Amino acid sequence: MSAVASAREILTGLHDVMARRGSAQAKLDRVVDLIAAAMASEVCSIYLLRDQSLELFATHGLRKEAVHVTRLAMGEGLVGTIAEEGRILNLAEASNHPEFVYRPETGEEHFHSFAGVPIIRRESSIGVLSVQHAEPRRYDEVEIEALQTVAMVLSELIASARLVDGSRGARRDAGMQRMAGLKLVTGMAKGVAVFHQPRVIVEHTVAEDTEAERARVYAAFRRMREQIDNMTREAEFGTAGEHNEILETYKMFAYDEGWSRRINEAIDSGLTAEAAIERVQQRTRARMREIDDPLLKERMHDLEDLSNRLMRIVSGRMGTAAQTGLARDAILIARNLGPAELLEYDRRRLKGVVLAEGSLTAHVTIVARAMGVPVVGRIADIRHIANEGDAVLVDGDMGAVTARPTRPITIAFDQRMAMSHKRRAEYATIRALPAQTLNGERMTLMVNAGLAEDAAMLETAGADGIGLFRTEFQFLIAATLPGRESQQRLYKSVLDAAGDKPVVFRTVDIGGDKALPYLSDEQKDESENPAMGWRALRLSLERKTLMKAQARALVEASAGKVLRVMFPMVSEPWEYEEARALFEEQIAWAKSAKLAGPKSVEFGAMLEVPSLAEVLDILLPRVDFLSIGTNDLTQFLFAADRADPRLAERYDWLSPAILRFLHRVVREAKAAGVPLRVCGEMGGRPLEAMALIGIGIDSLSITPAAVGPVKAMIRSIDAVAVRAKVETLLAKPPANMRKSLSDWAKRHGVALD
Ligand code: PEP
Ligand code: MG
Repeated sequence: MSAVASAREILTGLHDVMARRGSAQAKLDRVVDLIAAAMASEVCSIYLLRDQSLELFATHGLRKEAVHVTRLAMGEGLVGTIAEEGRILNLAEASNHPEFVYRPETGEEHFHSFAGVPIIRRESSIGVLSVQHAEPRRYDEVEIEALQTVAMVLSELIASARLVDGSRGARRDAGMQRMAGLKLVTGMAKGVAVFHQPRVIVEHTVAEDTEAERARVYAAFRRMREQIDNMTREAEFGTAGEHNEILETYKMFAYDEGWSRRINEAIDSGLTAEAAIERVQQRTRARMREIDDPLLKERMHDLEDLSNRLMRIVSGRMGTAAQTGLARDAILIARNLGPAELLEYDRRRLKGVVLAEGSLTAHVTIVARAMGVPVVGRIADIRHIANEGDAVLVDGDMGAVTARPTRPITIAFDQRMAMSHKRRAEYATIRALPAQTLNGERMTLMVNAGLAEDAAMLETAGADGIGLFRTEFQFLIAATLPGRESQQRLYKSVLDAAGDKPVVFRTVDIGGDKALPYLSDEQKDESENPAMGWRALRLSLERKTLMKAQARALVEASAGKVLRVMFPMVSEPWEYEEARALFEEQIAWAKSAKLAGPKSVEFGAMLEVPSLAEVLDILLPRVDFLSIGTNDLTQFLFAADRADPRLAERYDWLSPAILRFLHRVVREAKAAGVPLRVCGEMGGRPLEAMALIGIGIDSLSITPAAVGPVKAMIRSIDAVAVRAKVETLLAKPPANMRKSLSDWAKRHGVALD
């Protein structure tokens, strides 16, 4: 008998049983008879999870007295092993299996062969379906397939009759799970898991009309392939927020004949489109459990992602959680996100983010930091461990995430969260105090911003101004290219909110991982490595209309005030000159048109591309200030993609390579009398900031939440002593610079959080 015929025969029977009136028990009794007959099997039994153990619920062939009497713990015996590990057992001689336990009340000693499959609901085992034979033989693949299909349909019956524990069943990880990841944005948050791309729960498994189901799956495959093709095209520009490599794998799977064929076969056996996709997915998951190779395992996760996508298409449940709206305190769970995707979420309801990937200086992390949302990254299994709606604790200070916390853990977390708020409140007490060192040196502490609301935080953060206003954020959150007027309104509101404090506007830095979905294809970066591609100033200088509109908006918005502009990704001085000339033209134009222009203008360049450091003698006389963007600078110095999670922890900001490089820049800028600032994420970490002061930096622009901790550090150091220490360390670097610096800081009572 073919798998299809056998499964379909049983499914038709099951359909009738399920449609009939009667108790769930009566239905299960019918089901075991039906399966035993269809598979010509001497025994067919169903075990269900009740009170944490697997109870024999119905049987054909074992002693009836054993029903509701025989119980096995999770992991106990063959049945317990199947349920716990979520895998199939197919044995010619059951008693030879190391986990075999004999239960005399069942009378199973007559039977030699045994096959069992887990009954799964929402990725957890809720029971086991098994068949047994007197004659020792292994069941063939076809029979096992049929059993799995039947188990799937049974799970629907069991769940609707509420025959098992809770709705989640008893996956091994049903209890609390604590996972360690990478600290991306500090802070603590408590909420419920919300998947960025919600999971679909299959409600109906048996098809009414097989051909209609097939048509639905075909259409969904077509749509999914189109989506993947589009994403691959866009990803070269970074829009999708997903790595090229992943997309390539997606593409491979999307066109994989084997996958679509298996789904098709599952439909042939009588399942609905959703159930067929799920059925094949279950098989993949079962295979995944047996794989040790981490690389291959990752690929399987990709297939799972794609399968979820297909499921969403087929069931018409498209859209991210942002589009459907967050209902309450949400901990967002995603593989990875683009900055624009994150900005779509309601800031008031989004409490925390957990990513399977993620890296410290990826723009999504920077945006989350600006939004004040704690993020923990690099928890590869998060989407498999947490379920939608689970309670989740995100500890961005420790880099830990807890799913389904127990009460004592929640209480301890609450206490720590209260402490962390208290510490923040303590920082508030130094808000009005200057960022002055013990030996009386005044440092400048500014903040990085990008949204209109950020300017209002200046006071609360206790900062000296905005040292980096990322103007591209406005472009990222808009559905279409923001016009000159809307840009002008934003810039003016930021300047107004900042009052007397300076604001440094950086011209748009798009490209790389900050792609604009609405740019025309021609403007998109088709290169394989957009971070080193046509981005930031490179793009602006060739698409001058964009930069002209921005220049005009900035000039008009800063009427009567000081306009401070800086250009991102300057690689050679001529780029700076061209950009500056473009602004000067707009200023001259405003003058000639008798418009109120800025009182004065200061131009600066960002040092993010190492080549610029070699020509500072040419550049410095031409700039009013220089700002070091350590995020990009370090990715280029180390040739390490800032968005690649595999490199997230490989290079240290406190490495001699960076500190020496920066030290040289400091010396040159000082000699030329040009103000210098660091505006990358590095400066927002107290120990790193201390090292920067150690090489002679006296101005930092950092994420607002870091102002308190960094100011506390500054107020606890003697800058002369720090400089002397760092000089010595740099002259002869120790094996572990970070450790040497932090030991020294501890010995000298430096406040490091
Ligand atoms: C940097 O590269 O360090 C920087 C401040 O700019 P962004 O992070 O926006 O690229
Ligand atoms: Mg940069």
